Amino acid sequence: GQDAMRCSGCGIELQTEQQELPGYIPQKALEREPVICQRCFRIKNYNEASSVAVDQDEFLKLLGQIGGKNALVIHIVDLFDFEGSLISGLQRFVGNNPVILAVNKIDLLPKVTNWNKVLNWVQKQCKEHGLKTQDIVLCSAKKNQGFDRLLEMVSTYRGDRDVYVVGATNVGKSTLINRLIRDYSDLEQELTTSRYPGTTLDMVNIPLDDGKFIIDTPGIVYPWRYSEMVTREDLGAVMPENPLKPMVYQLNEGQTLFFGALARFDFIQGERQSFTCFTSGRIEIHRTKLERADSLYAEHAGELLSPPNKENVAKLPEFTRHEFSIKKGSHTDIFISGLGWIKVNSDQGAIVAVHAPRGIRVLTRTSLI
Ligand code: GDP
Repeated sequence: GQDAMRCSGCGIELQTEQQELPGYIPQKALEREPVICQRCFRIKNYNEASSVAVDQDEFLKLLGQIGGKNALVIHIVDLFDFEGSLISGLQRFVGNNPVILAVNKIDLLPKVTNWNKVLNWVQKQCKEHGLKTQDIVLCSAKKNQGFDRLLEMVSTYRGDRDVYVVGATNVGKSTLINRLIRDYSDLEQELTTSRYPGTTLDMVNIPLDDGKFIIDTPGIVYPWRYSEMVTREDLGAVMPENPLKPMVYQLNEGQTLFFGALARFDFIQGERQSFTCFTSGRIEIHRTKLERADSLYAEHAGELLSPPNKENVAKLPEFTRHEFSIKKGSHTDIFISGLGWIKVNSDQGAIVAVHAPRGIRVLTRTSLI
């Protein structure tokens, strides 16, 4: 409204109700001077960016504003949840502004990974999704890999542009920005967005020590990922922290794998072959017969089959079945957004199905590794 209080850091309208949304300020902090939102407060006082999230409509409005500016965009995606975290509509909104794609969490792939192959794979995926990228960097915000490359790119392409960092929630955007703050920022300077007087961009300008700014945008919530569907306690099990230990299963047709009670994979038809599961080590995989799978789930979801526990199983939407016919001679992953993927190792072809909570994005793709 007209007399709404605004954050003197980023200009956002302040609110005291919802901590995960932009503009949150604890009631008590309203008495402090200067009046700044919690997000700005943390950057200023703890050198720490924290996540705020907005829905897709809200985010598209923000993106629209970037299109009209002279900007360099850093688009962060999560390699573990590539198709789930890619902002596929980005191209329409950024106009002619250059985009650097930062593919984060590469530390999760096995150490022996062929990174050139991964890079080629990412390039192909971008093409398929209609995303033009000026450059692509594979990085790990957690393990501090790829950052020198990223900063080199930023200084190569930025010219006199502002740098906007965009990404879905949980891709590691805060972790990455915190790295940048720690290594390159000058927080003696003000955080303010005085350059955009009177506007509310929901963006935080972080001064770098060369007088330039990095602009943190809110994370976009994509609801088709497990990370948005499970409870906070199960999030730790679903999102891997350590390098994936791929699990190989030799299956006959008519066999099923359960991923806790989170998802189920049926090998319906095909020659005996092996499938490699790339999922968090904290999700137990349970093998059974396809004909027993329904009753096993009905009787043991939340107990033998966990996570989640019984209480949280009940909170998940009902399973939807996704059937796929894997072509002969293809190199295919069955991708389950936020949970991981299953690599089909044989090139003999197969018919398989995935059961996952309604709304979870499940698809096949060319094998990542
Ligand atoms: P944001 O929502 O995009 O700001 O994401 P955060 O920075 O809060 O990170 C989300 C989760 O991903 C946290 O549990 C981080 O520890 C984890 N994370 C962030 N960067 C990396 C990374 O490079 N590798 C791995 N394995 N995890 C990461």
